[in-house]
This record gives sequence, C-alpha cells and structure tokens, in this order.
Amino acid sequence: MTETVLNAEVLVLGGGPGGYSAAFRAADLGKQVVLIERFPVLGGVCLNVGCIPSKALLHAAQIIHEADEFADHGVSFGKPNIDINKIKSWKESITKSLNDGLAGLVKQRKVTLIQGTGKFTSANTVTVETNEGIKTVHFDQAIIAAGSRPTKIPVFPHEDPRLWDSTDALQLTEIPKKLLIVGGGIIGLEMATVYHAMGSEISVVELMDQIIPGCDKDLVTPLARRIKKQYKNIWLETKVNSIEALKEGLKVSFEGKNAPESELFDAVLVAVGRKPNGLLIDAELAGIHVNEQGFISVDKQQRTNVNHIFAIGDIVGNPMLAHKAVHEGKIAAEVIAGHKAQFDALTIPSVAYTDPEIAWMGLTENQAKQQGIEYDKAVFPWVASGRSLCLGRKEGLTKILCDKETGKLLGAGIVGTNAGELISEAVLALEMGADAEDISLTIHPHPTLAETFGFAAEMITGTITDLYIKK
Ligand code: NAD
Repeated sequence: MTETVLNAEVLVLGGGPGGYSAAFRAADLGKQVVLIERFPVLGGVCLNVGCIPSKALLHAAQIIHEADEFADHGVSFGKPNIDINKIKSWKESITKSLNDGLAGLVKQRKVTLIQGTGKFTSANTVTVETNEGIKTVHFDQAIIAAGSRPTKIPVFPHEDPRLWDSTDALQLTEIPKKLLIVGGGIIGLEMATVYHAMGSEISVVELMDQIIPGCDKDLVTPLARRIKKQYKNIWLETKVNSIEALKEGLKVSFEGKNAPESELFDAVLVAVGRKPNGLLIDAELAGIHVNEQGFISVDKQQRTNVNHIFAIGDIVGNPMLAHKAVHEGKIAAEVIAGHKAQFDALTIPSVAYTDPEIAWMGLTENQAKQQGIEYDKAVFPWVASGRSLCLGRKEGLTKILCDKETGKLLGAGIVGTNAGELISEAVLALEMGADAEDISLTIHPHPTLAETFGFAAEMITGTITDLYIKK
C-alpha cells in the first residue's frame, strides 16, 4: 500500500447535501477544497438512501391511490400491475442522474474528491483509507459533515434479512404481505404510505400517544384518520419487547395499549430515529468535543471547540434535515472565507411526505402554550377550498398562529396535498416579519391550495368571505 499526502485549505469530511454544499461554496469563495466521501457517489443518505428515492416511491404510491380513489368519481383503471423491478430501475435512474450532476459540479469547481473513510489523526490531519491506499490530508480548516445512521435496537435479530432499516425498505426487493413498522415518525409513516400502496398489510407501533409526536395534534389528526382506515393496526403507547426470527416469520411481542401479546410479520421496518456519527471519526485526536450520543456542539458560526474546525448537519444536532445541513454548510464555508455569516434563520421547516402531507414551521401551538406566548389562531378547513375538492380531497387544513398584540406571524402548519410545497410561503412570510394583514392583502391566485394560507390570515384579520365566522 502506498501513502499519498495532500494539502487542503479547506477539508470537508462527508459528501452529503451539507458536505457537498459546503465544499462547493468554499470553492466558489476561492478556497482550495478537498472533499472526502466514503461512498463511490456523492449525495449521502438524502440522495442515495433517503429523501430522493423515498420521494420517487411516494410518487408511485400517490398515483396508485389517486387512480384507485378516482373510481368513485367516474374514472376506473382497474387493479394496478406493479412491476417492482421497473419501479426500482426508475428510482435508481433518478439518483444516478443527480449523482452524475454532482460529479460534474465537483469537476467544474475543481474540488479534489477522495473516496474513502476519513478519520482525524491530529488537529490538522485526516487520513483516508482508499482503494489506492492510505491518503493523508493536511488541512488549514475543516468542516465535519459526517451525518448520522439509523438507530438500532440491540436486542433485535439484525442479521435477519426480514428486519429492515430505512435503507433496506427503500431497496424495494419485495412487497411483504404483513409489514410491521416500529416507530410512527416521519420515516416510518412515509414507508408505510409506500408499502400500503404496493399492497402490504401495514401495522404501526409507536411509543408515544400520537404519530409524529413533535407535530401539533390537530395537524396530525387528518392523517391519523385516513391511515386508521387504510392500515390494519396503529398501536400507540406501545413498545416492542422482542423480535424472534422464526422460519414462518418474525414473531414480535408487544407491551402496551390495545396491542396483542405477540404477532407474526413477514418483515419489520425499524424507524425509531437516527444517531449522529460523531464517535466514528476519531474527533478526539483533533481535540474536538463529542458528547456521549455522538453530537458535536457548535456556535452560531458552526465552529466547534477547536477554532479552525467546523461542523454541520445531522452531527451537530436535531432536526436531522438536509435543508438545515445545506444552510449550515454554506455558513461554515462563508465564515472560513472571512464573511460575517452566522446561523440566524428564524425557522427550519419540517415536512412529512405522507398522504396527506404535513408541513409546519415556526412556533407550534404546543410550544406557544409552553412558552406562555399569547397568540391568535386560525384554521382554514380545505373542505371550503374549491381546488382541494377538485382533487377529490377534503381533509386538509391550513393553520396559522399570529402574535396577539402585533399580528406578526409566529407559526404555520399545513396538512393536505402538496403541504410540503405550500409551507415555503409561510417560511418566507415569517422571515420577512409579515403580519396577518400582509398575508391577507397578498393576492393569491384562485383556485389554488396556496390561497388557503391567505384565507387563514383573513380569518385573523376578520376579512374572510369564503367562510362565515360569527363575530
Ligand atoms: P423520528 O424521530 O422522526 O421518529 C421516530 C419515532 O419512533 C418517534 O415517533 C418515536 O416516538 C418512535 N419510537 C422511538 N423508539 C421507539 C420504540 N422502541 N418503539 C416504538 N416507537 C419508537 O425518526 P425517523 O422517522 O426514524 O427519522 C429519522 C430522522 O430522519 C429524523 O430526524 C427525521 O426528521 C429525518 N427524516 C426526515 C424526513 C423528511 O424531512 N421528510 C424523512 C425521513 C427522515
């Protein structure tokens, strides 16, 4: 094995959305950048085994459902013929096209890409195990963007191919007859949406008293009502005690509300959160503090306790979302280039790409109550939205919270078709300091789902005509 030594003004460890954005921004600001990624392609979990492939499968699921449900309105297609191999190749063609795009961007920006697993050996060096041998990179400044991995429950039989994590579920190697999803969070429910559409009988087991526990209950209720009819079981306040691998299936024993003592499943997806990779990179050899869970703490400029080393994305804390990582990555690169940048975004929006989608941003109602903030609330029901009815759906809601005194937008939540797209207007309104009047006087095109945001604001200003609200 040969050893190569390289120098970098900026070293970026990890090529997910946060890492490649940081590397590209640093290169655009004139820095000479080395980017280290352990996989042969860039894009990290999000592009390869997360956000993007899941959205491809969710689109297939949406088409299956819409086609089925439209039979009630006069158009029938019959039972869908699902060719999982073809869906898989389509999904893979999407990730490949984005991987190729990123490889092109690396070349255009003259970023040096090293494929291999990098670990710190000192406060100014990282060594990378590559196929061509060990490479040592001396760096002036570094950005850690090494991400996270699925949390495993140690007592489960992890060698069994019927026990899945999110990466396995996205492989779409088979459609199990009976699928149990452990964890009613975003990954669990997105995958439930996919496999239900493909024909699996779905059961969900969730520790807390509602699905997507971080989200306000009134936003979750329309989704909870719909999936209650679609899925075989949703066991709340229940935990899985053990999983036994038997020839005929995985025997799962439960403890909690209304769940049976045990039941047999053809596959089990465990989606109980993700764990940061901070303990896997020998950060202590660079003097970086990593806490017991593997998180690295940073200041508003993304700087770790070591002055010239920055960290971004999942490894610095929740929420573990690609758009947060990208934003932080750009800040780190700008600070390194001498700009006066810092993290001062007012909110990081969340989206569950379930059916219906749920999206929220800013203050949730629970948080407003906990913090003793006085607010006005409006909830516009999509049953009064012409556009939503034309889509054959009426369960959606657009909810906004405004400061009681100033009328300023504090938070918003949307549940319904395309909620994930619609929430951006609320994020912009919050960042711009808009109040209910600004939003209500903004002319929204009709008929759109977007106008429900304007209607919710009109409910607060008292100018709504699309509903009758008794004074
Ligand atoms: P999550 O934290 O969103 O949900 C995990 C769920 O599992 C929680 O509801 C939790 O109460 C429950 N849980 C924990 N332990 C349990 C147990 N032993 N038995 C039953 N339930 C249990 O985590 P996730 O869904 O695994 O997602 C991981 C990360 O990836 C999150 O940070 C999420 O935001 C992110 N992600 C985001 C998107 C998106 O933005 N659309 C999509 C997928 C993942």
